[in-house]
Amino acid sequence: MADRADRDRAIKIIDILKRATKNMPVPAAVAIRKEYGKDPFLMLISCLLSLRAKDTASLPASQALFKRARTPQELLALPLRQIEQTIYSVGFYRSKAKRLKTVSQELIDRFKGKVPDTYQELISIKGVGPKTAHLVLGEAFDKQELYVDIHVHRISNRLGLVKTKKPEETQIELERIIPREYWNDYCRLIVTWGQNICGPISPFCSECPLYKECKRVGVTRSR
Ligand code: SF4
Repeated sequence: MADRADRDRAIKIIDILKRATKNMPVPAAVAIRKEYGKDPFLMLISCLLSLRAKDTASLPASQALFKRARTPQELLALPLRQIEQTIYSVGFYRSKAKRLKTVSQELIDRFKGKVPDTYQELISIKGVGPKTAHLVLGEAFDKQELYVDIHVHRISNRLGLVKTKKPEETQIELERIIPREYWNDYCRLIVTWGQNICGPISPFCSECPLYKECKRVGVTRSR
């Protein structure tokens, strides 16, 4: 019974957010898909660039890099220094530049230069974690995936949909609560909400259309 109430609440939250986010900027992965289509390699590279970086830094870095390379072969042909200079605006740009090269090499060596379309194969690539794998499958292969980043983890807990300490636990709980056909929508909407309204420090609760649905768990300061 509790599961059903949670499920209904989650669907209601998705409905409210669909209306509320209409004029907000979309998350970087959605922007990449809009600009380049469903290209799994570009999605994978942009996800790797976005790790521990804001979309405002990682999206322009991805766009700049894709002017120079759009395949594993083209990326490998670029000198490391040139990749570093191109993605300079994202944090950890040196280690990320190296990672882009090793991932490209692994794609060529193990997958004939193609990004695999299964979770297990994706996370078997060095440097590809669960969030990146789910995001690539969801945005480039049109599978229904839950990708739990810091926004999805934080806001799902604030809303009271889950009560978890780690993103991996949030993933399991959300999979149980939210019907599969809503998974991509839920993640895209919650990421947008986290970037615009429900930030980590002082969320805009007074303007939030989710206020009645939200238990505001752990929110001690808000605007
Ligand atoms: S009411 Fe506040 S804590 Fe809840 S979703 Fe809205 S902004 Fe976030």
